Amino acid sequence: MFNFLSKHLLLLSLMLSVSIFSIAYSLAWDLEFAVLGSTSLTLIFAIILERVTPFYSEWNKSQGDIQTDLTSALVLIALVDPLLKFLAPFIVIVFYSTLNLSEDMGQFNPQQLPLVVQIILATLLIELGRYWSHRLHHTVMPLWRLHAMHHSSQRLYAINNLRFNPLNYGLNYGLNFFMGILPVMLFGFSAEALFGYLAISQPVLMLQHANINLRSGWLNYIFSTNELHRWHHSTLAHEANSNYGNAIVLWDQIFGTFRFERDSKNEPKRVGLFLSNSNYPTRDGYFKQLGSSLKFNCCATKHI
Ligand SMILES: [Zn+2]
Repeated sequence: MFNFLSKHLLLLSLMLSVSIFSIAYSLAWDLEFAVLGSTSLTLIFAIILERVTPFYSEWNKSQGDIQTDLTSALVLIALVDPLLKFLAPFIVIVFYSTLNLSEDMGQFNPQQLPLVVQIILATLLIELGRYWSHRLHHTVMPLWRLHAMHHSSQRLYAINNLRFNPLNYGLNYGLNFFMGILPVMLFGFSAEALFGYLAISQPVLMLQHANINLRSGWLNYIFSTNELHRWHHSTLAHEANSNYGNAIVLWDQIFGTFRFERDSKNEPKRVGLFLSNSNYPTRDGYFKQLGSSLKFNCCATKHI
């Protein structure tokens, strides 16, 4: 049973999340709470299955990195996220008033569309912003110095999903906001469409780094699964220059960075930073890694 759950956890989590969202929507419950509930359940399942049926059992052993990952998660959840959520409404107000934008963007009113269509369109727009934000963090050198922390982990497991330099996280948030969420808001998509996007994307993100033998099959052509994401964390730059999508991989397919190996034995040999980043303090703690992004020689070699 555990093997079945491990292989199909993405599909099961997506079904659970969409069902909870649909019930909450039809009963006019708090959608944020509904998404938070299904996201938490997926993360709990992932952590349990990592112990019972790991993809690599050695990735379950600490490499002295748990403290780094937990500190990063705590900083993002307790400090950075609340600060960004506090600032976001002010930025929207400034943006609206400076550009004198009205909520009516011409004839197009997405709220006349069925909610499912709104969610699909919102997902495509937001994910386009997220795709380019992530890709720029790999190709623009000052941004790569910030993003290196996320790639410094030499194993992948559920918790290092939140190993991010706060500046990387904030910039991501800003770029995502201006390239994805703001256009969605300006076009007048409903708040329910944004929560619908979260209901689809959060289960994918909770499983993206999970050390579970997910075999998602055809879902790999749609979602950024852990099977695809391991390639993105390869130590070989030509393999890692792939699968930048946040929750979906449509934009990877369009912009030529999609990588999927049908042969399940074909896996990246190692995950972690590229050889050209050997000055980066991979095995040091959170704050030393943070400080390294200020050092010019930490990871300034072009890797792609
Ligand atoms: Zn990356």
